[in-house]
Parts: sequence; C-alpha cells; structure tokens
Amino acid sequence: MKEIFDLTDQVAIVTGGARGIGKAIALGLANFGANIVIADISLREAEQTAGEIEKLGRKAIVVKVDVTKKREIDKMVRKTIQHFRKIDILVNNAGILKTAEPENISEADWDKVMAINLKGYFLCAQAVGREMIKRKQGKIINIASIAGEIAFAQAAAYNSSKGGVILLTESLGCDWAKHNIRVNAIAPGVIETAMTKDFLANKKFLEMVKVKVPLSRAGKPEEIAGAAIFLASKASSYMTGNVINIDGGWTTIL
Ligand code: NAD
Repeated sequence: MKEIFDLTDQVAIVTGGARGIGKAIALGLANFGANIVIADISLREAEQTAGEIEKLGRKAIVVKVDVTKKREIDKMVRKTIQHFRKIDILVNNAGILKTAEPENISEADWDKVMAINLKGYFLCAQAVGREMIKRKQGKIINIASIAGEIAFAQAAAYNSSKGGVILLTESLGCDWAKHNIRVNAIAPGVIETAMTKDFLANKKFLEMVKVKVPLSRAGKPEEIAGAAIFLASKASSYMTGNVINIDGGWTTIL
C-alpha cells in the first residue's frame, strides 16, 4: 500500500519553493523520491532549499523566475526539460498578500496581486501543461487559500485571486482530464510563514485565530506537505478539479 505515495524519479517544479509552504512541499515531495526544480524570484533562499533537497539524496536545480513574466516561465520549462528531460508535477505556489480597506487598494497593488497569484498560476500551468499533454500525463497542484472560499477582512484583491485559483483548478481539471493531467488545489488556513509573520505577531489576530480555529492554533508549513504528496501521487488517482482545505477546521464552523 505504501507505494501508492511513491514519487521516485518524478520531476516536480515548485514555484515559490524557496521558503515557507513551497519549501515544505518541495522537501516533502523529495522525501518521497521526487527530483525538484525550485522556481523562485529569490535566488539566495532557493539555493539554500536546493541544498537541503540534495542532502536527502535527490537532485535539485534552481531557476530564477518571476511568474508574472511569460518569457521567464518558458525559460523555466526549457531548463527543466534540458536538465531532467520531463516534468511530472507542477506546484503553483508563488504568491503574495497585500491588505487594505477596499476603498484604499491602489490599482498597482490590485494588478500585482492578480498578476502573481492568478495569472502567474495560469501561465505556469499553460506552459507546463503543454509539455504534459505531449506525454499524456501530469499532476498540477495549485496552492489556493480558504480566502478563496470565505472572505478575509481587508484582503479583497487576495481573496479574489484565490477564488480565481479555485475556479482555474476546476477549469483545468475539467479540460485536461482527457490528457490524463490531474489538477487539484490545496486551500490552507493561516500558516506560520513570512507572509503571516506580522499578523501572527499581533496579539489580537492570534487571539482571533485561537477562537475561530477549532484546533486553536495556526498551522506549520510542514502540515501542508502531506496533501501535496497525496495529490502528486497515485494515492489521489481519482481526484481532479478538487480542493483540499487544511485549516484546522476553520471553514467547518460558523
Ligand atoms: P512566503 O512569502 O513565505 O513564500 C512565497 C514565495 O514565493 C517566496 O519564496 C517568494 O520569493 C516567492 N515569490 C513571490 N513572488 C514571486 C514571483 N513573482 N515569482 C516567483 N516567486 C515569487 O509565503 P507562503 O505563506 O509560503 O505562501 C505560499 C503560498 O501559499 C501563496 O500562494 C499563499 O497565498 C498561499 N497561502 C499561504 C497561507 C499562509 O497562511 N501563509 C495561507 C493560505 C495560502
């Protein structure tokens, strides 16, 4: 039964894999046998993460990419194919959060959040998907958020981008099933990363998390990795277009 989670010799691109949730997923996939492409805008952290993956006995390369730029995404795909000859798994994870009252969101901030969190996911899925279609196989995992299902306060652009990621997941899952490409999403709740550091340092926010989340705490990046391993492996062979919430129970209660 254990082998249904096996990822030996699979090749995974993880965008935003340098740190946080992306890093935990990259290490998780590597632990189950995958070789990893860390695709990130931050080279220094990406190289450190690649080093940690190599220590596990897997291969890892770093590709500097801004996921809003199609040309750089095409280069990421070319470099991966040159190095590993194939792509089995794409984890769309690179994302940003900007908060403000809706009346104060600048057009530039709205565009940036949408460009990275939604258009970036689509462009990466499209470029990698074209390679997967040729091989008639592949798994795409989109890191959405529970903010794509219920609104977080003062986060209209972020919430909208993550809602879009969920519909993108359903759309690609529907259209690419015929190519044997499965597309699923993970929707985390509040997880301790650089993105949430300032919020979690705020006593009021932390109290709100403790009250609203049945498990009464924020999650750790490692607690997202298991679902990514599951979605990347045969264990999830009857899933596509689906979303897994990992939120300590937050979205299950009123
Ligand atoms: P993080 O800030 O720790 O990591 C984000 C990574 O993305 C960094 O390595 C960063 O360099 C990279 N990145 C940012 N812009 C990029 C770009 N244009 N091109 C390429 N790489 C870029 O954040 P995190 O909390 O690990 O978030 C990862 C994903 O998880 C995001 O999509 C986020 O929306 C989602 N998420 C996070 C939480 C949370 O509570 N932390 C909850 C739900 C969803």
